[in-house]
Amino acid sequence: MAERNWAGNYSYLAPRIVHPESVAELQSLVADAQRVRALGSRHSFNSIADSAGTLTVLDRLEPDIRIDAANMTVTVSGGTRYGTLAAELQRQGFALHNLASLPHISIAGAVATATHGSGDANANLAAAVAGLRMVTADGNLLTARRGDEDFAGMVVGLGALGIVTELTLDIQPSFDVAQNVFENLSWERVLDDFDNVTSSAYSVSLFTDWSGETIGQAWLKRRSSDSVPDVFFGGTPATEARHPLPGVSGSNCTQQLGVPGQWSDRLAHFRMEFTPSQGEELQSEYLVPREHAVEALRTMRRLSDVVTPLLLVGEIRTVAADDLWLSANYGRDGIGLHFTWRQDQPAVEAILPLIESELAPFATRPHWGKLFNADAAAIAPLYPRFADFIALANRLDPSGKFRNDFLDRTVFGS
Ligand SMILES: Cc1cc2nc3c(=O)[nH]c(=O)nc-3n(C[C@H](O)[C@H](O)[C@H](O)COP(=O)(O)OP(=O)(O)OC[C@H]3O[C@@H](n4cnc5c(N)ncnc54)[C@H](O)[C@@H]3O)c2cc1C
Repeated sequence: MAERNWAGNYSYLAPRIVHPESVAELQSLVADAQRVRALGSRHSFNSIADSAGTLTVLDRLEPDIRIDAANMTVTVSGGTRYGTLAAELQRQGFALHNLASLPHISIAGAVATATHGSGDANANLAAAVAGLRMVTADGNLLTARRGDEDFAGMVVGLGALGIVTELTLDIQPSFDVAQNVFENLSWERVLDDFDNVTSSAYSVSLFTDWSGETIGQAWLKRRSSDSVPDVFFGGTPATEARHPLPGVSGSNCTQQLGVPGQWSDRLAHFRMEFTPSQGEELQSEYLVPREHAVEALRTMRRLSDVVTPLLLVGEIRTVAADDLWLSANYGRDGIGLHFTWRQDQPAVEAILPLIESELAPFATRPHWGKLFNADAAAIAPLYPRFADFIALANRLDPSGKFRNDFLDRTVFGS
């Protein structure tokens, strides 16, 4: 049977998927290959990971988690999942600054597409990368650190520069988080005071289907300095654990109701020990500059007749700026407009051009790992360092070993 991604909407065309047992094996495999790429935990919704040659999965390499408390970093094997790293960091009294909604995603795969969580002051997960090691096209190992020339181009690499075997991430002392969910917030009150909504906790997510006068849920992930309001922009506190999807049990979600606990058990939305709604959904996400947030939200509400019928739920998050060339947050604070779609790909793909054209005036960048329509001609002007990234890819991989159809369409433009 064909090997598929997590959502089951994409079958990899690569004739071979291999699981090297060592970095040395990976190096010789890459050196000998004509076409090769890395496959992470398969959580992307498009063909970004695929290859016409060999796909390599690093899940047989030990996580090899090494904490450097003097420099406040941790070094970990790229194929490790965030949940595995988070548990070990917490055990030793340390933390990452943030997590995505799901802890099951591989670190190298998440970093490669600039995966993010939420929080006005929280940059995406790739921004924590202080160093990396990758197997380049010639089979050699390249090590780079923050501050090195081109490092900022290598981190969000889309798998186009090499196979990342090891990442060094910034860490901080462990901290507690308490999570509170509020229901049925007033849209108009949120839009009138959006900055106060998103700054009211360490991480704020709003779940909406864009229709009607209220926002279904707000998830506030609070650190000890954040207070809990009685009423949140018209929303009232949930009285039991909630799932982002209306009517679905909250038992798979990280603990809520204001009970404080470790960051590693609260910053993701879903628990590591459960697999939320395996497949049965598609996702798209667009990153909009912060100054256009309210206008972009009003635009999406206007599109609700078209969008809502295809949606399971939407999520609004905030992400701080970074300096990583192909990060959707490069050079600007932003909001993420996320769509969890029903699994009807033709219908979803039919409305993406409309959403993208309506959001285009805001210089909106699509999430690399989710469904979008834009091609290289549309994407290139959105990234000031786009041409530098292409030059870096051509230098590190002159024969195009790491390229694939997706990158040809969305980056290299052939
Ligand atoms: C249920 C679900 C929830 C999600 N939640 C969020 C969220 O909260 N926030 C968010 O921003 N995104 C989210 N995503 C999207 C997801 O984080 C990205 O698609 C991410 O890139 C997936 O990582 P992966 O390990 O599955 O990589 P894959 O999907 O397997 O691959 C993605 C890219 O990473 C590259 N890659 C993988 N491993 C390596 C490596 N070792 N070296 C070099 N390149 C590599 C691949 O070549 C490919 O280009 C979610 C996805 C799902 C399915």
